[in-house]
Amino acid sequence: MIKTIGVLTSGGDAPGMNAAIRAVVRAALKKGIKVYGIRRGYCGLIDGDIVEMDEMSVSNITHKGGTMLYTARSSEFRTEEGMQIAKANCEKYGLEGIVVIGGDGSFRGAADLSARGILTVGLPGTIDNDIACTEYTIGYDTAMNTAMEMVDKLQDTCQSHDRCSVVEVMGRGAGFIAVNTAVACGAIEVITKEMPYDLDQIAKDMLECKKNGKQNFIIVVSENVGHSQEIATAIQEKTGIEARATILGHVQRGGSPTARDRVVASEMGYYAVELLEQGIGNRVVGMQNNKIVDFDIQEALSMKKPYDEKLHKIAQDIAFF
Ligand code: ATP
Repeated sequence: MIKTIGVLTSGGDAPGMNAAIRAVVRAALKKGIKVYGIRRGYCGLIDGDIVEMDEMSVSNITHKGGTMLYTARSSEFRTEEGMQIAKANCEKYGLEGIVVIGGDGSFRGAADLSARGILTVGLPGTIDNDIACTEYTIGYDTAMNTAMEMVDKLQDTCQSHDRCSVVEVMGRGAGFIAVNTAVACGAIEVITKEMPYDLDQIAKDMLECKKNGKQNFIIVVSENVGHSQEIATAIQEKTGIEARATILGHVQRGGSPTARDRVVASEMGYYAVELLEQGIGNRVVGMQNNKIVDFDIQEALSMKKPYDEKLHKIAQDIAFF
């Protein structure tokens, strides 16, 4: 029977991480397992920034964005020396298992720890939804809703001024936030790296819609495409419609998590503790067909996530008239 575990958040923060931490801590304590919070991800594991958690330590946090354990990226952890210090600290605190909440990089680190005898379970925590083994990542829903709210506001001012807004949203290597925001906000076009695009065609479509009475235009651009200012300039030149670029940036990483992020994070955190309780490690928890499942870390890292081409087509087909 496992007696002591740790929990950490690593890589970029994401709304909902706090709900996951709470679930891990409370589920473990309920099962009689001692829990330590490791601050600032693998940095804290190396520096010994490790604190015992009790029921109260995770009280009143589910509605807060960010992560109460803080997060960081550690290059030292990727060295053998750093890994040995991390392992020694696990032994010092009696950590038999660790729940790692983060992205692919964090899971690679978890696999390395696992190879050194510490049971690890990864939870997908990133706004980008770019983790292949899961259809949903903690923080994704909040980020999409934040992007949607921001684009709605831009749309108001675009309508008043007969303008075009080229809005760059986050997503790192993936266009999931972009395509969902485009559909949710009725954008005239979505530009992601996964699909070809043609600025001349977009300009033609815009002018056609303008002829039919449309007054404001939103073009959503995914972070992995970038060049939103250049796209805005080109659109203005080709259409004569004033176009402004807005990069939403890290505003999308913050804020109070949505109900869905809180609930999924809680389910995943609970599931991770159930795995560790059974002595199962080197796993990543994910969601498939709306069910919580788990995969071997290496298998999870080797998977590829298809882009939602159908939604991209829907975004385009229902935008143009
Ligand atoms: P995000 O999606 O938000 O960027 P991430 O978990 O992918 O999250 P990374 O910066 O890639 O973020 O990784 C977080 C930490 O995990 C790194 O700072 C490092 O300590 C560890 N890590 C990353 N890649 C590896 C690796 N190949 N081997 C061991 N540890 C790694």
